[in-house]
Amino acid sequence: MERTERPSALDAAAGRRGRALLSVVVPCFDEDAVILETHRRLADVLEQAPDVDFEVVYVDDGSGDRTLDLLRGLQRDDPRVRVLALTRNFGQEVALAAGLQHARGDAAVVIDADLQDPPEVVLEMLGRWREGVEVAYGVRVSRDGESIFKRWTSHAFYVLLARFSEVSIPIDVGFFRLMDRAVVDAVLAMPERDRFFRGLVAWTGFRQEAVPFRRAARFAGRTKWPLKDLLGMAADGLLSFSFVPLRLATWLGVLAAGLALSGGGYALAARIVTGAWVGGWAALFIAVLFLGGAQLVAAGVIGEYLVRIYGEVKRRPLYLVRERLGFPAAEGRGRPAGGEDRTVPPG
Ligand code: UDP
Ligand code: MG
Repeated sequence: MERTERPSALDAAAGRRGRALLSVVVPCFDEDAVILETHRRLADVLEQAPDVDFEVVYVDDGSGDRTLDLLRGLQRDDPRVRVLALTRNFGQEVALAAGLQHARGDAAVVIDADLQDPPEVVLEMLGRWREGVEVAYGVRVSRDGESIFKRWTSHAFYVLLARFSEVSIPIDVGFFRLMDRAVVDAVLAMPERDRFFRGLVAWTGFRQEAVPFRRAARFAGRTKWPLKDLLGMAADGLLSFSFVPLRLATWLGVLAAGLALSGGGYALAARIVTGAWVGGWAALFIAVLFLGGAQLVAAGVIGEYLVRIYGEVKRRPLYLVRERLGFPAAEGRGRPAGGEDRTVPPG
């Protein structure tokens, strides 16, 4: 496919099928307090978009509240709504992959269900896409209603990730973004289970541009990302896009060996010069503890990679689908009832 000379992704899409189709993918986990308002605002905004039709793919990520009921209602009233209900909570990254796999648009927008990512920004992203940008990602210039602690730790994570990962992952960027079909296909074609979405998109190397926005406070409900999950995601991001932890373990080993060697040299020199061996339990104890600690750290780091490799080789499906509403019959029936983990075949 010719990429550089394409005048504009939107024109190309329009040429193919009249109007371009935009898919909006919304992962939802226990969002019954906001979901109706979210849909109202999304539809309001998207109806203003010129030359674009849209579909909204809501992915119910195993909600325990009335989210799925409300989504069924939305789907009944609005033919542009499609609902994908997963069998249980698989986490936002996986829900997102499921939604993208079911999106049919010439471009796809990924947006949170809680109105923290303002739908109005999508219009600006569409403008960028029209200019030929393949990934228009939202950059949070400010975040309302989030604690200093969350803001600070999240910024620290992005800086660390940007510093150490092999691909350049922009700082202070969440999931919120518009992607051209080519990018969506590329990301879906990546077979890994350990999905750090932002890293995967950055890895593709398509033309990316930032769209600054003010991150609003949650419209209602509470965050579904407890500290434990955030830390898990940070570990996934760092471990799947960087070998620095492994290298640190190596350097720790080199340091320990260096200290041991110089200690040995010192003891030998002292023996030759003064005729006496270096005495004392303290030195021995410190050396033993240091070596033990260094070995455990190194084993732990290797273990972290091993766990991820184990997860990959099991090749379990990424998710299972319980219910599919509003998708064309052929699409719904042609596939097995669950387990279309399979990545989209390229092209
Ligand atoms: N989400 C999800 N599955 C999960 C956790 C979250 O689909 O296991 C969705 C959630 O419904 C929301 C988005 O991911 O639409 C972002 O979650 P949240 O607002 O709780 O995260 P925060 O904005 O606090 O980082
Ligand atoms: Mg949120």
